[in-house]
Amino acid sequence: MSRIAYVNGRYLPFAEATVHVEDRGYQFSDGVYEVCEVKGGHLVDEPMHMRRLQRSLGELKIAMPMSLAALRVVLRETVRRNRVCDGLVYLQVSRGVARRDHAFPATGTAPSVVVTARSADRTAAERVAAAGIAVITVPENRWDRVDIKAIALLPNVLAKQAAKDQGAKEAWFVGKDGYVTEGSSSNAWIISRDGKVITRPADHGILRGITRTVLLKVLKSQGLELEERPFTVEEAYAAREAFVTSASQVVMPVVQIDGRPIGNGAPGLVATALRQDFHQHSELV
Ligand code: PLP
Repeated sequence: MSRIAYVNGRYLPFAEATVHVEDRGYQFSDGVYEVCEVKGGHLVDEPMHMRRLQRSLGELKIAMPMSLAALRVVLRETVRRNRVCDGLVYLQVSRGVARRDHAFPATGTAPSVVVTARSADRTAAERVAAAGIAVITVPENRWDRVDIKAIALLPNVLAKQAAKDQGAKEAWFVGKDGYVTEGSSSNAWIISRDGKVITRPADHGILRGITRTVLLKVLKSQGLELEERPFTVEEAYAAREAFVTSASQVVMPVVQIDGRPIGNGAPGLVATALRQDFHQHSELV
């Protein structure tokens, strides 16, 4: 089955799904995106993703490309046309097409919208979660507005490739102060020896992950103690458990950081239980 993408008002086979060479997303990474999990044909926590989208657009002064209601229809239609039951839907909005010039184009330039959807292999994902993933640490080298879900992801791309080159699945950025900020495409968490769940506050230093936000509710429901504070790499090495969260990985146990085993080197009980419970607390719409 040929995959279908939504591009600026049309549903097109991938081979024809193209954007203009002077699209500002292509030339300047001048745009934002969202990735939403699809489960049983439903979008997971879509209202929160849409709120974050509106915030990201607002921070970059890009207009909403269409009404929220219309956008929600496009997301669903793209999921449906690609027959995605379990997987991901990707939405990108750029500042649109204009003659190349750094400053914003004329008011009224239409933002470009692209939506794609793809199926995920749940069994394979569960296999990965059952084994846990390895993480490396890399120096934080991103701009200081990573709270905006911008499509400018070059440091993240390089960090992820460094992880891959070292046989790991994720890279955690570490600031000059020795504190972990977040993963290249996930939020970072540890569980201390005394059972406290620790993650960095969602200030400008990290993206406020939707999975992170929902997980705070799951922690509460399980009676776990949360400490929202930065943690160092040394604390992470000594942690009982570690894990990452993202829409595509949900809760993914981390079993190794920079080659050192975390806890007993197997996925932790708490991270595993959080993963199991997660969707009871997420909104399927
Ligand atoms: N941090 C970064 C840098 C990300 O790219 C992502 C997701 O792609 C996240 C955190 C997790 O966000 P969410 O849970 O909304 O997927």
